[in-house]
Amino acid sequence: LTESLEAEAGLPCVTRDGHRIPLMLNTGLAADHVRALSYGAEGVGLYRTEVQFMMAERFPSEQEQVNLYRQQLSAFSPREVTMRTLDIGGDKPLPYFPIEEENPCLGWRGIRFTLDHPEVFLSQVRAMLRASEGLDNLRILLPMISSVREVEEARALIRRAWSELRQDEGLPLVNPKVGAMIEVPAAMFQIQALAERVDYLSVGSNDLTQYLLAVDRDNPRVARLYSGYHPAVLQALMHIAQQAHAARIPVSLCGELAGDPAGAILLLAMGYQGLSMNLASLPRVKAAIRRVDLQQARELLARVLTCASTDQVVGHLGVFMNELG
Ligand code: PEP
Ligand code: MG
Repeated sequence: LTESLEAEAGLPCVTRDGHRIPLMLNTGLAADHVRALSYGAEGVGLYRTEVQFMMAERFPSEQEQVNLYRQQLSAFSPREVTMRTLDIGGDKPLPYFPIEEENPCLGWRGIRFTLDHPEVFLSQVRAMLRASEGLDNLRILLPMISSVREVEEARALIRRAWSELRQDEGLPLVNPKVGAMIEVPAAMFQIQALAERVDYLSVGSNDLTQYLLAVDRDNPRVARLYSGYHPAVLQALMHIAQQAHAARIPVSLCGELAGDPAGAILLLAMGYQGLSMNLASLPRVKAAIRRVDLQQARELLARVLTCASTDQVVGHLGVFMNELG
């Protein structure tokens, strides 16, 4: 099987009936871009900038960030690289900036932290903009968005970083696209308002699952309750896709669900326009998509959307994947 996966790796990601869906890569620090490109990755759908921050002993300087971002942007150029602004707190602590909270996942994390520390946000955005000079394949992604105010504040800071760089350094900058993550349930019900304020949406199914089911994504005691195949999660993902289409804004997904072949088939059927995943998942997901028709995927989706339990969903998916071979 591994051999046939390798052989297919360079082929386009299309269903049997010719429906194309771009697969992208999730990365942090440096990526194995040679392999990713040989697998046909069409860019980076999620670059987790916090990894550099988590491995350092202090906040990385602007120049240190520029160096790392430049590597990533040039490795994938001309393909787009989606850089998420710092998403610390919750399950992603910084050793040199401890945040003591009773409920860290509901606390000071992601965009909440960076809007309270605009100097951190500005230095990061400046680093991204400087790193993208002449490449112009940068997209900026905002994590943990739960209100339009956060988007507006973040965009104002991005504009400020942009005009400062232009004025001070005369850099000929291109305005990058800015997107919002949909990973807090509140954001699901504000798709239209968010769509008026950003250029694209990216669903973070890991956190969305955690918050919808009220199940800690990292707690082994409740791990069996955590599933992206819970019927409520599937309904939520369907709702987001429909709302995004109605608002005419591109929507993709970058959580673990996209890297599971059965999940990828469901997301394709829901109308997601891009799937971003870890390197190891790319060949498997592509092979699965190349074996289905869109119609078949839609029938599977219709079937699982009627299920009342995760077990039933998983049962249907198991049968389907077995038949797919
Ligand atoms: C997610 O929440 O699904 C996501 C992609 O981001 P992270 O796993 O880094 O929180
Ligand atoms: Mg997340």
